[in-house]
Amino acid sequence: MSERCTILIIEDDKYIANFLAVSLQKHGYTVLVADTAASGLFYYTSNHPDIILLDLGLPDRDGLEIISELRQHDTLPILVVSARGQEFEKIEALDLGADDYITKPFHMGELLARVRVAERSLLTRSSPQPASPIYRNRCLTVDFDRHVVQIDDQDVHLTPIEFKLLQLLIKHEGKVLTHRFILREVWGYESADTSNVRVFMASLRRKIEKNSASPQLIVTEVGVGYRLTDSEPV
Ligand code: CA
Repeated sequence: MSERCTILIIEDDKYIANFLAVSLQKHGYTVLVADTAASGLFYYTSNHPDIILLDLGLPDRDGLEIISELRQHDTLPILVVSARGQEFEKIEALDLGADDYITKPFHMGELLARVRVAERSLLTRSSPQPASPIYRNRCLTVDFDRHVVQIDDQDVHLTPIEFKLLQLLIKHEGKVLTHRFILREVWGYESADTSNVRVFMASLRRKIEKNSASPQLIVTEVGVGYRLTDSEPV
């Protein structure tokens, strides 16, 4: 992509904001920096950024409120970059509609990889054609038209639920999906009991991972959910 997108950083820690801004600019992104929720929302409405990097601990408002406010009318990728390590907050941010969550301190390489995932999702959001009916990621091939899943060119039989799970993971490749989100999307209901997700994810893994003790495709985000590994090498 020659014309890279505009990223709004909402972060009150000047050192981190500056580090992010410089690194992203070096990679060709246009960057806006806001140090309060109020100025962040002002930049959002006046500059129409493509992606938001959001700190949760802001001086004037809670970052979680910003997520739910933006999600009422906008689907732009929101990546939470926060020092707060608590799992419940991570889950709440994702459930409110954040696209991803990165805990400080982070490696810039990891952050850039997540930004690229967000950037690619922008392309698929705006393209009118459906994504390719053939999906490839490492040893895995999925032919959506024929409903065929293969590992190293060998057919693998998936149950309808396992296939839906895999389809959901592929749709959100590279993003962490919470147990509750998966439950809602695959089973169609909300519940605090997410044991179904774990059970079916385990059976899916047994079928598509070469070594389920060290999965290459479906990665567990402990206490949060699952992520399908990015198919493009990072
Ligand atoms: Ca902060």
